[in-house]
Order: sequence, then C-alpha cells, then structure tokens
Amino acid sequence: SYRKGGYHAVRVGDSFAGGRYIAQRKLGWGQFSTVWLAYDTQSSGYVALKIQKSAPQFAQAALHEIEILSAIAEGDPSNSKYVIRLIDQFKHTGPNGQHLCMVLEFLGDSLLRLIKYNRYKGLELNKVREICKYILTGLDYLHRELGLIHTDLKPENILLCSTINPSKDPIKSGTAPILERPEGNINGGAGISLIEKKLKQRARRAVARISERRASMGGIGTVPKPDRCLDGIDLRCKVVDFGNACWADKQFADEIQTRQYRAPEVILRSGYSFSTDMWSFACTAFELATGEMLFTPKDGQGFGEDEDHLALMMELLGKMPKKIATGGARSKDYFDRYGDLKRIRRLKYCALDRVLVDKYKFSKSDAQEFAQFLVPLFDFEPEKRPTAEQCLQHPWLNSENLIQNEVQGEHSIEKVNVGMRNLQIKVGK
Ligand code: ATP
Ligand code: MG
Ligand code: MG
Repeated sequence: SYRKGGYHAVRVGDSFAGGRYIAQRKLGWGQFSTVWLAYDTQSSGYVALKIQKSAPQFAQAALHEIEILSAIAEGDPSNSKYVIRLIDQFKHTGPNGQHLCMVLEFLGDSLLRLIKYNRYKGLELNKVREICKYILTGLDYLHRELGLIHTDLKPENILLCSTINPSKDPIKSGTAPILERPEGNINGGAGISLIEKKLKQRARRAVARISERRASMGGIGTVPKPDRCLDGIDLRCKVVDFGNACWADKQFADEIQTRQYRAPEVILRSGYSFSTDMWSFACTAFELATGEMLFTPKDGQGFGEDEDHLALMMELLGKMPKKIATGGARSKDYFDRYGDLKRIRRLKYCALDRVLVDKYKFSKSDAQEFAQFLVPLFDFEPEKRPTAEQCLQHPWLNSENLIQNEVQGEHSIEKVNVGMRNLQIKVGK
C-alpha cells in the first residue's frame, strides 16, 4: 500500500507541517491511514499524527472524519467528555501524493489490547464498571448533544488515556523526543505503552515467583499464572475512530458496525439510530467482563452468517417479536411469515445470567446483576433500549458494595449498595 494513492512512508525524525511535528514512532495503522507518535515542537508535547492514504476516496473519508472531529472538539471545549480530541489538521505532500493529516491527542492502548494482555480472562467487574462509565459519558455526549452515531463501537476503538503519557514529563519518564532523523534505524524510544510496561513488570514478578517456588520445592514446580494486575491503574479511556460516524439525520450507509457488534435492526435493514451504538456498547461491556466476544456468528450448511447471528441473538435473548422479525427490508431473507428463522429451526435457549455462571464462572449474584444491566440494552426493539444517559443512572454502575453514610436533611440515610438493589434504608430519627 505504500504506492501512489496509498500510505505515506514515514521515517523516525521526519518533520511535518513546516517543522512543527516530528515523527517519533509508529503507533498503528488501519485501512485508511498510518498513525505516528509525533512531538509537537509548538506545545512541547506528544500527539498522534494520523496520515491518510492519498487517493481521492481516502481524502474524502478524511474530510468527513475531520468534519465530525471538529464538531466534537467545538462542543466540548474543556475536553472532558471522553471522546478523542482533534488538535490540528494539514496536508502533506509526499512521493505517493497529497495526504490529509489529522493531529489527535495521544492516547494509550486499546481496550482490545487490554483484554489480550489480561489473557482473555475478562477484567474485574469494578474495572468494567469504571470503563463503562467513561464510554457511556462519551456516548451520551455524542448522542444527546451532537446528534452523532458512532456506528463502530468496539474494544479496538476505545483507547486508554495512558497514565504514563510522555507528554506529561518526557524527560523524567526517559522519553525525550527525537528532534531529527537519526542515523540508521532505531526502534523509537518515546511513549512506551502502559500495558507493555505492566506486562514487563508482571513477567519479572512471575519469574521471581517461579524461582522462589522451584527453590522451595527442590527444583520442581509448575509455572504460575500471572495475576490480573491492573490494581491501581486508572482506566480512563476515550472513544476514537470516527471514520464511520454519521449524523443521525444524515445517514449514508446501510451496513454499519463490525460484525460481532452489529445490532439486529442493521442486519434486517429496519433503519437505525443512536440505540444501535447501545447494542455495540453492551457487546463491548460483556467482552470486557468475560474476555470473549458475545456473538461470533459463522455461516454453516445451508445458512449464512447473518442468519446464524440472528439465531445466536435469539438463543440468548429469546424469540424476536414477530413485528420486529418481519419488519425489515431484509426480513424475508431470514424469517418466515410466523417470525421463525427459515433455515435454523432448533434454537437452544440459554439466558445471559446462566451463560455468565456456567461458562464464565461468575457468582450467581454478580451474574444476575450484570445481566440486569445488559439485557435491556439487548432489546430487539431499538426504541426500548436505555439511552446512554439512562444507563449512567443504572445502579449496577454505582454498586461497589460500599456502605456510605450521608446526612440528608432530618434523615440519616444509609445507602447500602447491594448490587442492583441499591437499597436506600432510612435510618432517620
Ligand atoms: P480503521 O481501518 O480502523 O478505520 P484507520 O485508518 O481509520 O483504521 P484508526 O483506527 O483511527 O485508523 O487508527 C489506527 C490505529 O492507530 C489504532 O488502532 C490505534 O492503534 C492507533 N491510534 C489511532 N489514534 C490514536 C491516538 N490518538 N493515540 C494513540 N494511538 C492511536
Ligand atoms: Mg480503527
Ligand atoms: Mg477509521
């Protein structure tokens, strides 16, 4: 793809926008762009430089993304809504053409990497709650204040606000910027990822434990599994990747969302709105808590991926109401007129809380409470799904089994947050 119309090849030390930004190391890439950590000589901080492929369709897509990112930045001057911030934009001409470039705030690893590094075991529920609050705050802003639908919400598109962001103190964290192109090739120094650092620590600890155990057992021992050690890490995160986002009143694509996070109304072509992001949000929350994707449809003998997907949804959530099942432009491809799937006739129902207990070994109460939070988001009727704003009020997000005492007027109210029940016991006078 590094040819005419494609990616722009970058080397460490390359400068952009008349010398303002200096490339430090590659952070990632996607279908449309490469993303580089760059040093901003004007603000003396680090930024992420997204350099779009140059062909017209990519330039067009970048203009769309910039329009949306600009609206996001304008509506949130204090940058407190947990959505990626556009700092600057410019054009860069190279051997492969003219590339639109977006300067974004520099963030850390994606939640997908967090899940991977946690060995696909799922994060502690308190961590999941914390992350959910940030995502929901971002979604509420996009939906209610801007009228935007993200349309591609998934763990990969949520990035941690790295706590060792080198922009805070590059020198102290040993990440002084590279200001000119170095001799030969170096594997860029700046911006070691938070998780990389944690992982190294964890590996060191595991090795220490192995040798300890070997010693105590006379040399024989099994390799211990590293613990989940995200203790004390602030898992603030932000929603990113607005390349597919759209205004609710100006939709252009029928097929949206990444397969596993796709809502039923999108498969059935019944039209979609903000609530379609809420479906993807719920899939994401499940994945954070279990380490596995909730729906992984596959085609099979005589049926396609879409029909399998619908079957998986109904096995978990029950039968789709007939008016929903038969109401979409594509309904006839999958459902008969009674609202039963045409090719997959026998469904094995298993409710979400049971899946959490049986497959993921959740305690019964954890499973029930988490399921009560998620299941309404999986309503087949999009209009019935709670909004991001309503979700933020849900007791599950505020149920860290804490006992707080508050004095309110004449009554002393003891809030006993017993999971979902969030009992408010009036101890009063
Ligand atoms: P896609 O095919 O997913 O639409 P894309 O070309 O639009 O890709 P992005 O998804 O925006 O590109 O970015 C590609 C990768 O670069 C991300 O997955 C992430 O690893 C990294 N990245 C993007 N933005 C940032 C950022 N602000 N800070 C740090 N890393 C980032
Ligand atoms: Mg992406
Ligand atoms: Mg994109």
